[in-house]
Amino acid sequence: MSSKYHVVLSGVSKAYAKQFAVNNVDIQLKAGECVALAGHNGAGKSTIIKLILGLIHPTQGKVQLLGHDVSSRSAAQIRGQIGYLPETVALHPSLTGAETLAFYAKLKKQPLANNPGLLSRVGIAQAAKRRVGTYSKGMRQRLALAQALLGNPQVLLFDEPTTGLDPASRQMFYEIVSELRNQGSTVLLSTHALAELDGQADRIIVMKNGSKIADGSMSELRQQSGLPIRIRIAL
Ligand code: ATP
Repeated sequence: MSSKYHVVLSGVSKAYAKQFAVNNVDIQLKAGECVALAGHNGAGKSTIIKLILGLIHPTQGKVQLLGHDVSSRSAAQIRGQIGYLPETVALHPSLTGAETLAFYAKLKKQPLANNPGLLSRVGIAQAAKRRVGTYSKGMRQRLALAQALLGNPQVLLFDEPTTGLDPASRQMFYEIVSELRNQGSTVLLSTHALAELDGQADRIIVMKNGSKIADGSMSELRQQSGLPIRIRIAL
């Protein structure tokens, strides 16, 4: 595989019992690209993210991440190159922001000293010593984003990162996405909020019932017929 691609899914299917959550999907993400995964609830977006992370394994097909088959032993070497922001992040309310980040750094074997200023980068340095239980939803999401950025990963996977966020936190999130792209990291994010991606995403992949039904720039998708009505409106 060419190193031009950070993530490659080839003919990937994932079935639960006899139901296909993802069905014969091909996806290629170039280094430095920001790509959005769109689709209704249950379309298969989170399943694709979990397949790329290697949290679940394909029923058919192959997932490659930074040149490694994610189900191979050699994939362990690249775990530190991946940042993941799940749809809901479990943060302990009695830990402070700084303690939470230190906990994740330990988990990821990433010395905090190598990650200076992460809480400032996400705009919550002033709350570093406050317990997370006192944080707003926006602040918790910023802290969750900080843990995803630990170690300056080459590939970032964000599952509905801006859902329910206040406008300032959303703007900060996209500023960070823009910085990540400038430094050559690859970003894949699942979202229902396509309109806010204008100028942010290079491409949008539209999923429906586990299949990829469209893959193109925002303007290409606006010209495309046959997309689900809610996707058309969101564009
Ligand atoms: P949402 O926007 O609601 O998060 P999604 O596009 O991320 O939806 P997935 O979570 O990937 O969709 O789910 C795709 C399909 O797979 C759904 O029908 C879901 O019910 C099913 N599914 C996902 N995980 C499991 C599981 N662990 N066991 C059984 N079925 C599952």
